[in-house]
Amino acid sequence: MSQSVKINYYDTFKCIADKCSMTCCQEWRIAVDEDTKKKWVGHQIEDVENNTKISLCGCLEEEESGSIIKLNKDKKCPFLNKDKLCKLVSQLDETFLSKTCDTFPRQKNEFEGRIEQTLASCCPVVVDFMRDQKPQLLKENIKHAHPEEALLFEIREVMLGLMDEGAYTLPERLMTIFYTLLEFLDREKLSIEQVKVSSGEKQLKPLIKAIRNMDFSLVDALLESNELFLDVVENYRKQGLYVDYLESIAQLAENLEADYGEEELLERQAEFEKVLLEYKQLLKHYIMSEIISNGLMPESNLEDMVVAFEWIVMEYSVIRQALFLKWLEQGEEGLSYETVRDYITVIARVTGYDASDIYEYLENSFEDVIWEWGYMAMVLGNLEM
Ligand code: SF4
Repeated sequence: MSQSVKINYYDTFKCIADKCSMTCCQEWRIAVDEDTKKKWVGHQIEDVENNTKISLCGCLEEEESGSIIKLNKDKKCPFLNKDKLCKLVSQLDETFLSKTCDTFPRQKNEFEGRIEQTLASCCPVVVDFMRDQKPQLLKENIKHAHPEEALLFEIREVMLGLMDEGAYTLPERLMTIFYTLLEFLDREKLSIEQVKVSSGEKQLKPLIKAIRNMDFSLVDALLESNELFLDVVENYRKQGLYVDYLESIAQLAENLEADYGEEELLERQAEFEKVLLEYKQLLKHYIMSEIISNGLMPESNLEDMVVAFEWIVMEYSVIRQALFLKWLEQGEEGLSYETVRDYITVIARVTGYDASDIYEYLENSFEDVIWEWGYMAMVLGNLEM
C-alpha cells in the first residue's frame, strides 16, 4: 500500500477566488483532459454580460500536447465571470471542472509505495504560506520499495539540509548543492552512507573556503541573469501574456548594458541586495519548496535530479533579476511584499515546464544539459542573496 506524505501547509490551502491578486484563470495554458471533454459535449452556459450562451466545447483549442481552453480577447478564461468566479461551478457544478482546474495548485507525485502531495508556487496563496512557514514534508517512518529510490530520496534530504544551512549565503548553499550533485553523478557507485557523509562539516568546510576565495564578476552574474530572464520570458512576450508584469521590465533588460555603465550597475546591484535581504527567508523557502515538489519526480534518476536542480537555480536567478529590474523601474524605492509575491508567481508560471520540456530547453540553450559547476557559480556570483 502507498504511503501518503504532504507538504506541511497542504491542508490549509483554500483558493481565495475573487480575492486573488493573480487568478490562474488568465494568461495561462489551461489543459482540459479527455474525460472532461466528453462531459462537456452538448453543454452550454449563460454569458450574462454579453446576453448570449457559450458552448463548452466551443471554448477548446487543440494543441500538440492535447486540448486547452481558448482564452478570450482579454486573455482570460471564457468561463470566468466579472466577479472572478467560475461559471462552470456557479451555473453547472464542480464536476464540470477539468482535472487541471479541479486540482490546481495541488501537485501529486506518485512514487513506488509513496505518494507526495505538494502545492505549486504558481499561486499567490502558496507564496503567502512560504513567507510564513518553512516547507517540509510531513512524514513518519518512510519505507522505500527500491534501494535506488531510497538513495534519491536521501540525496534530496541532503539538498534540503544544505539549503537550511544558516552559516552560508544563499548562493553558497546552491553552489555547494550543485557541486555535491555533480560529484555524485561522477561516481560509478553511490551508497546512502556516502550521500549522508557528503553534507558533513569535514566535506563542506574546504569547499566553502574555496568558494570564498574565488574571484567573481558581479557584472557577469548580473548580465547572464539578465539574458536568462529575457530568454525565459520571450515566448510569453510574443504571445502578449503577463504584459503588465513583463513587458516594461523586459524592455529595460534589453537596454540594461547600454543604459548603465559597469560602475553604475555595480552600485545599483549593491543597493538592491540590501532591499532583497528582507525577502531572504521567503526566497530560501521558495527554493526548498521547488526542491520538494520538482527536485525529484517519479521515475527520475540522478541525472534528472541534477537537471531539475539547474532549472530551480535558473528560476531563482530569473526571479532575482525580474525583481532587480522592477526595483530599477520603480525608482529604486524598496519592494513591497505584494510585488515580490507577484513576480515569484509569474516566473513560477512562465518556467513551469515538465521534465521533457526542461531537457529540450536546456539542450537548445546550452552545449550540454549538465552545466559546468563554474557556469552556475558565475550566474549566482558571491552575493548575499
Ligand atoms: S491562483 Fe490560487 S488563489 Fe488564485 S484563483 Fe488560482 S488557485 Fe485560487
